[in-house]
Amino acid sequence: MTQLAGKYAAFNQQFIAGVWRDGRDSTVLQVNNPFDGSLLTEIVQADREDLDEAYRQAAEAQKQWAATGPAERAAVLHRVVQIFDQRREEIIDWIIRESGSTRLKAQIEWGAARGITLESASFPARVHGRILTSNIPGKESRVYREPLGVVGVISPWNFPLHLSQRSVAPALALGNAVVIKPASDTPVTGGLLLARIYEEAGLPAGLLSVLVGSGAKIGDAFVDHEVPKFISFTGSTPVGLNIGRLASGGKHLKHVALELGGNSPFVVLADADLEQAVNAAVMGKFLHQGQICMAINRIIVEDGLYEAFVTRYAQRVNTLKVGDPDDADTVIGPIINARQLQGLVAKIDRAKEEGAKVVVQGDVVGQLLPPHVFADVTADMEIAQEEIFGPLVGIQRAVDEAHALELANHSEFGLSSAVFTRDLERGVRFARQVKAGMTHVNDIPVNDEAHAPFGGEKNSGLGRFNGEWAIEEFTTDHWISVQHTPRHYPF
Ligand code: NAP
Ligand code: MG
Repeated sequence: MTQLAGKYAAFNQQFIAGVWRDGRDSTVLQVNNPFDGSLLTEIVQADREDLDEAYRQAAEAQKQWAATGPAERAAVLHRVVQIFDQRREEIIDWIIRESGSTRLKAQIEWGAARGITLESASFPARVHGRILTSNIPGKESRVYREPLGVVGVISPWNFPLHLSQRSVAPALALGNAVVIKPASDTPVTGGLLLARIYEEAGLPAGLLSVLVGSGAKIGDAFVDHEVPKFISFTGSTPVGLNIGRLASGGKHLKHVALELGGNSPFVVLADADLEQAVNAAVMGKFLHQGQICMAINRIIVEDGLYEAFVTRYAQRVNTLKVGDPDDADTVIGPIINARQLQGLVAKIDRAKEEGAKVVVQGDVVGQLLPPHVFADVTADMEIAQEEIFGPLVGIQRAVDEAHALELANHSEFGLSSAVFTRDLERGVRFARQVKAGMTHVNDIPVNDEAHAPFGGEKNSGLGRFNGEWAIEEFTTDHWISVQHTPRHYPF
């Protein structure tokens, strides 16, 4: 790993209303490297007064920002892209050390965050209003598209840089101000690092604040504050449901985007290319130790290919290197924290108790959990029903295509999904019947492109990110009509 120096080396303060300073809370957050436990930084946490200051300053700064021309806003985002390029290695190293990402995953995350920044640089010139016809004589009817004002962003620890930036970049591009509350496991890559980058890019002070504080302590106040008009949340379904309730039942009604948990089915029909399906199931399950909302959560294989798939998959999974995420050939690095690891170990025990057949297993060493594969899993087992978020997976047998579809849809979640078949139109027909926001034919469910709609159905969430969908999410319509000639009123 490169030795960090200068402004990008130490992140031990909050960034509130354009000032780097300590929070006002009495508690200190310690941020550790999940692989070796080393202390990365300590940050005095933010309290409600800090939160209030960040939001009020954001509201103030937003007025002028919304009035700047599109070229000026786009230029800031282009400079952010330049800094991403210049500081590529520093950014990737931070992702590795703070979130336990393998080098490959950190590179992918850097690319995704850079991609949405570049895409967002086009938004100021792409957002447009409309002129509508009117049934009323002499009336001109216009629809203006306006920024929402201040946007609150809450992000998780698994792809912290990207999952913050996919809201921050479009929000700023479209004339909003932003306050980020990153996950407590990843305050640097989920917020403070971005704050530095935007500061270096010349974003006016106050438009972006980062509050480091515990969700349990300041989360409700962050959501229900009167200033933000939109809360963009990415995280677990229980927390997301609570945010949805607060946004509609708190004191201040607001828009929400909820990008929540997943339980992606990976369906292999009997006419699939076995080798390609196995390769995809390895990558789609084990990238980032399976800690991805879109990661394969259930493998469903049609009868004719079942035995061959299980055998070949186990062979491939057994070759994956588990270890130091900074080693170039490591595929499976550490689990983010001790609590998550405990939960995964409990899921493994439960799968065994419920009668799943162990095909691949290994022993926990420190924060490293080797891959676990179970066969003969049934739809009612916990490993099939719940989001796993780790390097374990169960394989289910489907008697035919209809059964595979029924199994695929047997979930409260509907984020991503995938189907393998040599008959591409059969694949598309199948895909269209999967209740999900995203389905990929002959590919992994883990796909995110800056111009394609990203989001889920059912308990996986509300709203869509990326491209023109983000333009909609981060703006609002204002209908303004002009009565050119006096209108006749009936009384
Ligand atoms: P999480 O526990 O829900 O935490 C996510 C964020 O919410 C963190 O910043 C957390 O802060 C904050 N938070 C916690 N309690 C809160 C509250 N009462 N009010 C407001 N904010 C609160 O999720 P996670 O464990 O970090 O991430 C894993 C989950 O995210 C998985 O379920 C995964 O599927 C989902 N995810 C979804 C997507 C998607 O795009 N659909 C992408 C990635 C991940 P603290 O860290 O301080 O608790
Ligand atoms: Mg940590």
